Amino acid sequence: MSLPGLAWPVELRPHPRARSVRLRLDEGRGLLLLTYPRRMSRRAALDWAGKQADWVEEQLAAIEPAEPFDPESIIPVEGLPVRLHWDRDLPRTPQLAGGVLSCGGPVDAFPARVERYLRDLARRRLSDATAETARRAGVTVRSVSVGNAASRWGSCSASGAIRYSWRIILAPPHLLNWLVAHEVAHRRHMNHGPDFRALEGELYGADVASARAELRALGPRLKRVGRLI
Ligand SMILES: [Zn+2]
Repeated sequence: MSLPGLAWPVELRPHPRARSVRLRLDEGRGLLLLTYPRRMSRRAALDWAGKQADWVEEQLAAIEPAEPFDPESIIPVEGLPVRLHWDRDLPRTPQLAGGVLSCGGPVDAFPARVERYLRDLARRRLSDATAETARRAGVTVRSVSVGNAASRWGSCSASGAIRYSWRIILAPPHLLNWLVAHEVAHRRHMNHGPDFRALEGELYGADVASARAELRALGPRLKRVGRLI
């Protein structure tokens, strides 16, 4: 689904509790999210969105350009610069060594292979860190999964399922450790109250406020990495 004259596709989101129609940029996925009350017709919501083209253009001009996984581009991995290298004759499974992530096979599949590699790396690091932090906290975690949430770095359900954004693997490791400490602390406190904050700080073992500020500053860049448009 797309709107006339706009490069970014639109995802329609009828919502039972939305009071009005709303358009938002999802930078991580390169999408426009159109949320509208369920009682409103899809047609009316799209008509409204079509009239917001100027606003969308302004928003798109204000954000930094995407950083797709192109051969020879540089991306951050665990906070360090890594060069992406493609050569048809190399193995198709990406390998990371000496600051170079290389992979072979058809060049069309290169970005997807790089993303899969980063998601796998994120899943491994996050699973290990979550298991270790949960052990220290004396709590259980039912599952650890990795997705591409645009607005949140992590979430923890009441039943103990923790979900992270794979993009945290792009950030320096101490930010991953803080994120894990935050979500694991939710296994004891499903709020952000004083007891939660004390446990979060203890599990992280460093200054939570500065980690949070660092991730907030870095976030917009990390959400551009791997995006196509
Ligand atoms: Zn939280």
